[in-house]
Amino acid sequence: MKKVHIKSFGCQMNVYDGQRMADILGEQGYEETATPEGADLILLNTCHIRDRAVQKVYTELGKLRDIKTAQKAEGQETKIVVAGCVAQAEGGEIQRRQPAVDLVVGPQAYHRLPELLAEAAGKRVVDTDLPIEDKFGFLPAPKPQVIRARGVSAFVTVQEGCDKFCAFCVVPYTRGAEFSRPVAQVVAEVERLAEAGVRDVTLIGQNVNAYHGEGPDGAVWGLARLMHRVAEVPGIARIRYTTSHPRDMDDDLIAAHRDLPQVMPFLHLPVQAGSDRILAAMNRKHTGDEYRRLIERIRTARPDIALSSDFIVGFPGETDADFEDTIRLVDEIGFASSYSFKYSSRPGTPAADLDGQIPRAVMDERLYRLQERIEHHRQAFNAAMVGRAVDVLLERAGRHPGQLAGKSPYLQAVQIDSETNQIGDIVRVVIERTSTNSLFGHKFEAGAGSRKEMAA
Ligand code: SAM
Ligand code: SF4
Repeated sequence: MKKVHIKSFGCQMNVYDGQRMADILGEQGYEETATPEGADLILLNTCHIRDRAVQKVYTELGKLRDIKTAQKAEGQETKIVVAGCVAQAEGGEIQRRQPAVDLVVGPQAYHRLPELLAEAAGKRVVDTDLPIEDKFGFLPAPKPQVIRARGVSAFVTVQEGCDKFCAFCVVPYTRGAEFSRPVAQVVAEVERLAEAGVRDVTLIGQNVNAYHGEGPDGAVWGLARLMHRVAEVPGIARIRYTTSHPRDMDDDLIAAHRDLPQVMPFLHLPVQAGSDRILAAMNRKHTGDEYRRLIERIRTARPDIALSSDFIVGFPGETDADFEDTIRLVDEIGFASSYSFKYSSRPGTPAADLDGQIPRAVMDERLYRLQERIEHHRQAFNAAMVGRAVDVLLERAGRHPGQLAGKSPYLQAVQIDSETNQIGDIVRVVIERTSTNSLFGHKFEAGAGSRKEMAA
């Protein structure tokens, strides 16, 4: 068998796309290998969101060129493919900067990988077309053993692209306009995953709560209705969705958190900043108080919900007072976890042309302070779990013999002592202690959605 090494950078959408490309190449006789050395095909699935992510790709490509040259000296041909959002944004420029690259394929064109690879025999090829509709209908279904090897939690792309045009963000340009997969296609994929043992699905999209797919009845279904349907799939015990925009959190979606036990009480809802002035300059189309009121409504519907967010520090024009508004919002909401980034100017985005770009040293200082507050709240949230019973989906063997590792409803990593192998089951665990990144506990009964409960 030929060997392919796939390395994905960036968001969950890329993890999903990487798996789909592995499925396509699997049909072409490739098996996945964990290292680039010895591979016949090396595929970088890239991220364009911040400048650093892009620079990483070029550094990586330099190393891959050396591997390709060394393998050629030993008589092995190696093809290098660049896929994902850098491929979309930079196209043929990638091959000008790194001539060892054989093929550049954008995120909406990768279903054509087999023909493009054939075309790339002896010449360089670029395909960065953006017709999203094409792709999903052409993707082969993964085999049950492949799904099983990937584990009991899976991502399912239901939506791609974004029409929000936040002033800092490249996504509307790299992933194109919003597109939602039809309900029947999503349900068929979830059913296939569930039949192979998947228990936890995360419905993903760049702006997933803008989902508006065609239902089997011909009507347009929103994300809430889709989740009600996914909740009916036998075996699916947990449903999550990411990433959402505050403006698209409608009443039905909030109600789904109250009405559907499968929808996990954890929501990633990026706010980006706390200052209304900066939020307006970012074109986020909501204020800090609108976000606070939204959180109140979500917490009323689902009192045990935990929240996470993304933050950008150092957006052009951000003053100390604006930054303090972000800190105040973080302290008021008390996020269970969050991602935070220094603003990175992206060519072609409206914010790149704004006056008032913030010096690096100021950004460093703000990021440090913000991360200290985020970490404080994360640790407080984790510490509050001690003594509580939580349902843990067991995902894999733990760090030590006799341990199993899994996830709480809040996406915390949990290690439990267990002699029996129950991967894929959900057990109620009493949390005894925490470390920086994990919770530790012991199992005492079957949890909500456990196989035992479902069989009853
Ligand atoms: N659609 C999501 C949203 O509305 O927040 C996430 C999009 S993006 C893949 C993930 C995060 O990267 C964003 O939420 C934002 O915090 C960050 N990000 C995007 N563009 C950025 C930039 N130019 N500089 C720094 N961070 C950025
Ligand atoms: Fe980017 Fe998210 Fe804004 Fe869309 S909603 S432009 S993906 S940050």
